[in-house]
Amino acid sequence: MAKFPIEPFRIKVVEPIKKTNRQEREQIIKEARYNIFNIDSEKVYVDLLTDSGTGAMSDNQWAGIMLGDEAYANCRNWKNFERVLKEITGLKHIIPTHQGRAAETLLFGTLVRPGMIVPNNNHFDTTFANIMEYGGDPQNFVDEPGKDTEIFHPFKGNINIPKLDTFLAANKERVPIIMLTVTNNSGGGQPVSMENIRQVRELADKYHKPFFFDACRFAENAYFIKTREKGYENKSVRDIVREMFSYVDGATMSAKKDGMANMGGFVAVNDDWLADKLREKLILKEGFLTYGGLSGRDLEALARGFEEVLQEDYLEYRIGQVRFLGELLEEAGIPFLKPTGGHAVYLDAKKIMDHIPQNHLPAQSLVVELYKQGGIRSVEIGSFMFAVPDRQTGEIKYPALELVRLALPRRVYTNSHLFYVAEVIREIYGYRHQCKGMKIVAKGESSLRHFVAELEYIE
Ligand SMILES: *Cc1c(COP(=O)(O)O)cnc(C)c1O
Repeated sequence: MAKFPIEPFRIKVVEPIKKTNRQEREQIIKEARYNIFNIDSEKVYVDLLTDSGTGAMSDNQWAGIMLGDEAYANCRNWKNFERVLKEITGLKHIIPTHQGRAAETLLFGTLVRPGMIVPNNNHFDTTFANIMEYGGDPQNFVDEPGKDTEIFHPFKGNINIPKLDTFLAANKERVPIIMLTVTNNSGGGQPVSMENIRQVRELADKYHKPFFFDACRFAENAYFIKTREKGYENKSVRDIVREMFSYVDGATMSAKKDGMANMGGFVAVNDDWLADKLREKLILKEGFLTYGGLSGRDLEALARGFEEVLQEDYLEYRIGQVRFLGELLEEAGIPFLKPTGGHAVYLDAKKIMDHIPQNHLPAQSLVVELYKQGGIRSVEIGSFMFAVPDRQTGEIKYPALELVRLALPRRVYTNSHLFYVAEVIREIYGYRHQCKGMKIVAKGESSLRHFVAELEYIE
């Protein structure tokens, strides 16, 4: 029997959720044009679409909301936000934004020009699209274990150092910045080791390039370093986080993840020139320097959230809950990406839907079935999201993996919900070969088409 994680909190407020029946859901998803983003949230039973901005805040954060100082400039909540982030990251300039992609827009809008290439372990979808937006070419350099869903490797988010080195040697003029996503969301929420981070720093020095984190899940990554990397078992997560950030020149972050609040983000940098450039853009696009698109109360909830996310009993429960769902699936023989990552379980749709070829979107077919069978909302991370025509050749490049992500919102669902999710997946696995492939019938052109495209079954 899987060992289940105990919640280090009790429940003070509840939010009712309602179950629909299969017949109703078949109609709902059809009306949604088989795109899960079009379904009303009230029609979802367990919502595992994302862990972004979907977490439950603590009583301490809600108390902070009441202390919101909504002054336009220099509100006290900004002071708290800035102080906490400077303490945690050690970075010099903190620039607030309303969410992660706004931080990306500021950074890439400043550094990326047409023809430039930005390497990363795996770019997240908005990161990918934001680099494309400025004419850049986002490229992925995740190391080999990160492309295999079966083999156990403690740090499948690691970037391939020799490959990155060779690439930089040949293309250094075209690279404005090196990125590393911790944990690697598009690659399964897998962590990056401290050793790997240190090696990227060495390459950044060798080629004189700025090195930035996409830091959305920095605390989850640090917890994996503590529990998996030799020499870190007796260090505090706070110290590990500090060391991680000591190797970078800056970071972008969606604080809707490890900020433990429902909205927010930032870009942080050491370089004074770059900070000035980013701040000019901030005022133009987001808001004044001390709020960046956020209200004072949001800033306060975030300042407190950044402290709470470093609590180690929280992280043990958090990572434990994701592992627990994985163990339930393992007992049922369901293929998924192993080991489980920090924020989500990724079903291996290539193996589950082995009768559907990649160009018929096997992972999206599974997403639709999860909703039909159990009212569970998940998200496709496969060909529906990434198989777009190459800019030069027009040829469609298919991703290595076809995944369905079951993201766990922070502190929201209990272990009983996870039992339910595992049971629904087990049922689908039993009749999976009845599920049909899918095709895009409208709105398929955008680089972020998975948010808007409409689909149908291939009959
Ligand atoms: C969520 C996320 C982003 C984008 O952040 P938003 O707040 O959704 O704009 C960027 N990178 C990664 C790795 C993410 O998980």
